[in-house]
Amino acid sequence: MEQIITIKDKKFKPFIEDSVIAKAVDSIAQKINSELSHEFPVFLVVLNGSFMFASDLLKKVSIPCEISFIKVASYHGTTSTGSVTELIGLTENIANRTVVIVEDIVDTGVTLEKLVSVLKGKNVKQIKVASALLKPESYKKDIAVDYVGIEIKNEFVIGYGLDYDGLGRNLKDIYVLAE
Ligand code: 5GP
Repeated sequence: MEQIITIKDKKFKPFIEDSVIAKAVDSIAQKINSELSHEFPVFLVVLNGSFMFASDLLKKVSIPCEISFIKVASYHGTTSTGSVTELIGLTENIANRTVVIVEDIVDTGVTLEKLVSVLKGKNVKQIKVASALLKPESYKKDIAVDYVGIEIKNEFVIGYGLDYDGLGRNLKDIYVLAE
């Protein structure tokens, strides 16, 4: 693996090699293939960060499925209810379907919680969550993350789709902020 890399004002050191990620992704795919084989699931890939994970994962998912790419946008509505979460890009009718949310990383779970609450309003059959990475020390929500690739400490990572200020998404390995 390469050595320390510099992106803008920060240095990152090698953390998780691509071969380790590949094994974790493999085991998620196997679980999905056995658990959801009769569900004809819709995978909702949450852009931008999960593009690389989704690509690797879905090449190994061999059950019939559909794949859709979405973005989560928050804006402040004109009502007193505060911020409103909107899904951009969801064109399929997902009523009565098994939906698998594909995330790059679950940290505090705020994003995931918003996404799940929007999807629940669309009368889906069930929601499953797959995330390449999870930070258990930081995650305090009740929503189950059904398929977790690798659990990591509460540190800032880049690579494998994850960016620092727009950069680093293309790295095949995962790097962590160096002290
Ligand atoms: P949450 O809402 O769970 O706190 O955070 C989810 C989002 O925050 C992720 O989808 C990701 O965009 C960003 N995020 C959380 N932790 C990291 C990290 O370690 N590295 C990068 N690059 N983004 C992160």
